[in-house]
Amino acid sequence: MNTALYHGASLLPWLIISAFFAAALWETIAPERPFKLSQWRRWSQQAGLFATGTLLSRLCLPIGSLAVASWSQHAQWGLWNALGLPAGLTLVAALLSLDLGNYLSHRLFHHVPLLWRLHQIHHSDLEVDCGTAIRHHPVEQLIGNLLFILQVFLLGPPVAALLLYTMITALVEVMHHANVAIPRRANATLRRVLVTPDLHRIHHSLDPADADRNFASIFPWWDRLFGTFTTSPARGTAALRFGIDGLQRPDEMSLPALLLHPLRRNA
Ligand SMILES: [Zn+2]
Ligand SMILES: [Zn+2]
Repeated sequence: MNTALYHGASLLPWLIISAFFAAALWETIAPERPFKLSQWRRWSQQAGLFATGTLLSRLCLPIGSLAVASWSQHAQWGLWNALGLPAGLTLVAALLSLDLGNYLSHRLFHHVPLLWRLHQIHHSDLEVDCGTAIRHHPVEQLIGNLLFILQVFLLGPPVAALLLYTMITALVEVMHHANVAIPRRANATLRRVLVTPDLHRIHHSLDPADADRNFASIFPWWDRLFGTFTTSPARGTAALRFGIDGLQRPDEMSLPALLLHPLRRNA
């Protein structure tokens, strides 16, 4: 990896932390939906899940996506290396294909019952805010990372494109979970190109008709293309409730209970 890319990679954690602080501040000053639950309890759950998932991925995956992209560039392996398109075009195509891959793997996590058992922990949050972005069962985090590494292996995106994609995903995912309202006209323009909080909030609905919509990470175009896009919940915004069936009581959601939930017979 060259020096500029190395510095870019080292800035990533700071960029994500800054985005969290900015979103948390915005939510505290002007939340779109008033917070009703203990934020300490929710945030400690999200932090616990994230820390366990990061540790599990570090222990189980000997190599990361950046190392795979770096190797594929060197070995001229993968779709985008094989096609040999001009650098600018490859960068854009790589960004789009990585995001399409994430859209498809998100749909897989909803479609395959075994994967849904894990992904429902992300959907179990009874309130949605920027902290929900890191609420994933550790095994989901591990499988998600593995699928992403496989995607990078097959596509062979330039390291710069992968780094850029990772940065944009982290920022957009923090922001599209944020409990904030973007002014109406700006939001209407923004959601033509990015997944905005109002769009992703619908995906967290308790109503399965809504949860099967708006799967995209960065670009909402995939949902438009595959017919899963919506701008309003099936029963209207006022009736929107978050979470999953069978896990609606905050006192049932300790960290150990969330970790063990996928093993429950009726999960
Ligand atoms: Zn989902
Ligand atoms: Zn989400």
